[in-house]
Amino acid sequence: MAKKQFKAESKRLLEMMINSIYSQREVFLRELISNASDAIDKIYYKALTDDRYQFNKDSYYIKVSADKENRTLTISDTGIGMTKEELEANLGTIAKSGSLAFKNETELKDGHDIIGQFGVGFYAAFMVADVVTVISKALDGDEAYKWESKGADGYTIVPVKKETVGTDIILKIKENTEDDSYDEYLEEYRLKSIIKKYSDFIRYPIKMDVKTS
Ligand code: ADP
Ligand code: MG
Repeated sequence: MAKKQFKAESKRLLEMMINSIYSQREVFLRELISNASDAIDKIYYKALTDDRYQFNKDSYYIKVSADKENRTLTISDTGIGMTKEELEANLGTIAKSGSLAFKNETELKDGHDIIGQFGVGFYAAFMVADVVTVISKALDGDEAYKWESKGADGYTIVPVKKETVGTDIILKIKENTEDDSYDEYLEEYRLKSIIKKYSDFIRYPIKMDVKTS
């Protein structure tokens, strides 16, 4: 008999992943900062190998901005960005790790970043956000695109305006419930301590900007 493929309910899988893979919600920030750092590594590598591009270390950074009034937390980077096709391929396929291909076996066995290795890092954002918006302009693309998703229901991609190459990940932070508070992810001291705990080794500057009203 022909071998059949398992059918996976991606909606259910995503929910399961969001609620059980990560033991702590706060790691969403580590995942997003690590993606931002990977994206800057890529533009850096490109500049090293392609004369058309130049890498000026000072213009490459990650910025974490919180807006309490609008309940948004934005992680911006000046990395390589994503084309429409890359947004589709990279953020539309759960558990397809792009960076996995880059890592060698020793790094994998090391296992310091097991979750990231499964290519579900980005979706950790849904632990704290009910809408995730990604605005990206690729180094090699001339238009910018906005990818948006509420998680389980899928995503949309539309063209938008963005002047500079790079990516903004905008999280609409969940409202507090009786059992859970999400306000802390808009607090400067809390964000700083999460960054200190997990992202201290990141080689690019991490700037912070918190707007209260
Ligand atoms: P992984 O980092 O293990 O590949 P993720 O789920 O964290 O898995 O991210 C999926 C992919 O989405 C990345 O491999 C990368 O190609 C793309 N991506 C995510 N965030 C960014 C970003 N800030 N800039 C450019 N590409 C990104
Ligand atoms: Mg990642």
